[in-house]
Amino acid sequence: MRNLVWFRNDLRVLDNPALYHACSETGEVVGLYFLCEKQWLIHGDAACKINFWIRNLQCLQTSLKLLNIPLIVIKAPLYQDIENKILSFVDEHNITSVYFNNEYGVNELRRDRKVYSVLLNNQINVSNFHEQTIHTPGTLKTQAGDNFKVYSPFKRSWFKNLKKEHLEILPVPKRQNNSSFETSSLAHYLSSYTSDIDESLWPAGEEYIHDHVDNFLSQKGSSYKLNRDYPSLDATSKLSPYLNTGVVSSKWCLNKALEYNGMKLDSGDKGIVHWVSEILWREFYRHIIYNFPKVSKNKPFVDKTSKIKWNHDDFLYQKWEDGKTGIPIVDAGMRQLKKTGWMHNRIRMITAMFLSKNLLMDWQKGEKYFMQNLIDGDIASNNGGWQWSASTGTDAAPYFRIMNPVSQSKRFDPKGTYIRTWVHELEKCPLEDIHEPKNPEQYGYYEPIVDLKLSRKKAIDVFSNL
Ligand SMILES: Cc1cc2nc3c(=O)[nH]c(=O)nc-3n(C[C@H](O)[C@H](O)[C@H](O)COP(=O)(O)OP(=O)(O)OC[C@H]3O[C@@H](n4cnc5c(N)ncnc54)[C@H](O)[C@@H]3O)c2cc1C
Repeated sequence: MRNLVWFRNDLRVLDNPALYHACSETGEVVGLYFLCEKQWLIHGDAACKINFWIRNLQCLQTSLKLLNIPLIVIKAPLYQDIENKILSFVDEHNITSVYFNNEYGVNELRRDRKVYSVLLNNQINVSNFHEQTIHTPGTLKTQAGDNFKVYSPFKRSWFKNLKKEHLEILPVPKRQNNSSFETSSLAHYLSSYTSDIDESLWPAGEEYIHDHVDNFLSQKGSSYKLNRDYPSLDATSKLSPYLNTGVVSSKWCLNKALEYNGMKLDSGDKGIVHWVSEILWREFYRHIIYNFPKVSKNKPFVDKTSKIKWNHDDFLYQKWEDGKTGIPIVDAGMRQLKKTGWMHNRIRMITAMFLSKNLLMDWQKGEKYFMQNLIDGDIASNNGGWQWSASTGTDAAPYFRIMNPVSQSKRFDPKGTYIRTWVHELEKCPLEDIHEPKNPEQYGYYEPIVDLKLSRKKAIDVFSNL
């Protein structure tokens, strides 16, 4: 008997249901990972994110080795190639059972349904598990039996339906008997999947992220609510790439929150309670992509917004990408993204609203660019964030409430520290000018590419006429 664990976005040994259950059965256990280069290109996955996956795969391989479980890596350029590749592997190595954890993107669900039926047709046992969110997408319903479209009632239902067992962590599996398989070498992949982002900003591995979350909650958890909106403060957890790659489970993080908050999630320490509610936004958007798959098929959630005639000015768009819009807070965010593979949440909202409202450009262009650059790029949260900002999504910002980037800058970067960190031209700009520099050329900086008041009015007109 041989059991295969197919790893995907679940690169960890702790609290990994597929791995745990495979190891609880009799027989040898082997891990498998498919490198889907062409699929990643189609999905627009960022180079820094792919590099992060490979580095975490290496850590996973080391942890698995301690359990006597080899990890084999195989190239399958597209998801559709996996059916045949997995079948050959299973045949060649006399595998009797395959285990994997579910993913909820449209392409991932399609891939898994095919693989599932191909394996079953070949008399291979298949076991799949839910682990990405606490409640399985599709299980939380309104009183009328509909899927939630608004976050607050979703959150109330999330808590109402929470049972103790939902938060039980599965241990690291027991050490297996010696394996007859050769583990794949990852050295070649580590040197081929590189990126311009400094790897030391995003250390890999379960051990790192466990310590990091522990430190975050003990030192910054209580002040999170107060400080989370100030981009110059290192006040948020920077957990997103690890959650999205499955280096840690959201369940583990919620258990840590319980530990630091007197075993409560929805009352007690205001900072920790707020952090938990942000993790629930992530869960909300995962339920949305599952319940309303149109949002990940290039469609807005609010149908009528597909009628908007977006502006297609490539010159202005390029200024946004390059962080040369002449609006310092927007440019700071776009440069932070390019340099680090991450952008502060408040600034994601500001830059996204600036593109979709002030420049009146298609939010899908921005969504794609973020995906191509974010180390935490995630179909559900990225789509949710963009559609929120563009007022085309579920529970989105009302179209008439357009953030003024200059007012946001004054409020959330009052000393201009964040701007000066990323917009070097303005390092010597005095504080009274930093948010809206007069004669920006004197600093080698730019005039604003758009009039904020006029463009705001135009966007409101466009949306109100839908
Ligand atoms: C336009 C736009 C695009 C976004 N794209 C992504 C994306 O591709 N991937 C991604 O993980 N998040 C995305 N977000 C959400 C959010 O900006 C990031 O999750 C957050 O900045 C990550 O930093 P952190 O880990 O320090 O968060 P913390 O503030 O410490 O929050 C803890 C965790 O809660 C979750 N979370 C926090 N805020 C949100 C939110 N608004 N929506 C969903 N989950 C949230 C994340 O998993 C995060 O790691 C986007 C937001 C916007 C407005």
